[in-house]
Amino acid sequence: MRIIGVLTSGGDAPGMNACIRAVVRTALYFGMKVYGISRGYYGLVNDDVIEMHLDSVSDIIQRGGTILYTARCDEFKTKEGMEKSLSTVKKYGIEGIIAIGGDGTFRGAIDLSTHGVPAVGIPGTIDNDLPYTDYTLGFDTAVNTCLNLINNLRDTMTSHERVSIVEVMGRNCGDIALYAGVGGGAEAIIIPEVPINLDDIIKRMQQSRDRGKRSNIILLAEGAGSAENLAKELREKTGYSIRSTIIGHVQRGGAPTMADRILASKFGYHAVELLKNDTGNRAVGIVNNKIVDIDLVEAMNMKRPVDMHMFKLAEILAL
Ligand code: ADP
Repeated sequence: MRIIGVLTSGGDAPGMNACIRAVVRTALYFGMKVYGISRGYYGLVNDDVIEMHLDSVSDIIQRGGTILYTARCDEFKTKEGMEKSLSTVKKYGIEGIIAIGGDGTFRGAIDLSTHGVPAVGIPGTIDNDLPYTDYTLGFDTAVNTCLNLINNLRDTMTSHERVSIVEVMGRNCGDIALYAGVGGGAEAIIIPEVPINLDDIIKRMQQSRDRGKRSNIILLAEGAGSAENLAKELREKTGYSIRSTIIGHVQRGGAPTMADRILASKFGYHAVELLKNDTGNRAVGIVNNKIVDIDLVEAMNMKRPVDMHMFKLAEILAL
């Protein structure tokens, strides 16, 4: 292929900009032409497309968000939306598309491939909820953001001898809570993949109080419940001073970490290489520290069990 497009779609994630940069610079290096499609599939439906040059992606590797903007576009899922998208593709002579986003974005990429536009998906979501890849772009940064906030919380919780329930994002995936919990030394972690055991959590809180610990942090994944409800329930059962904190959208912003910048660069390069070799309908990922690509449909059908070793590790270290 000689002419490709790149878009970011769905929820934004730190590292998307670094990935756009990698796609554009790699494509230009290989002598290809590259178009940026604005606001994900919305830009494809509504012909919002610009040619990208070397300096279109200058000074963005360190920036969160996405210079191409992102959106949710229901029209793309309709017959008319697809027809409009195909005519945009034809107008610019685009031969293949790189879609950076989460599972919805990947379903859109499958649709494009089915309609004769080879597409490659790059996993860009803080949730780490795409099972075919060990890590998605933005996950590392989001966990580090949570860790910084947990450090701050622990200071004030220790001063007041309080318990803090911290709700983090991740949709139905508990990875942000699990990694932030282990990294932040949480006394308990609650994730959707493992049934909650409140009695055990209360026992742990009491044990740590008995040995003089002045604060407790409980990490709660949004898919496993609400921090406010849990705080109320635990308050009633223990009489402790318990506060709930929802970290919210700050997790989605910020300068990408080194890990996300490197991942973005490798993912972007690999995706362009695939299209250069006329290979579409692939999902790019990282497995056992190696960049891989697998069939898009297969990627969407995969299941990954939660890392129970990590969960157990958290329990042991928080004793
Ligand atoms: P994410 O990619 O972060 O999971 P969404 O689920 O909102 O975000 O999906 C982003 C966009 O991808 C949607 O607004 C829509 O344009 C497209 N999309 C989502 N699901 C499908 C689908 N089943 N078929 C085609 N396109 C889809």
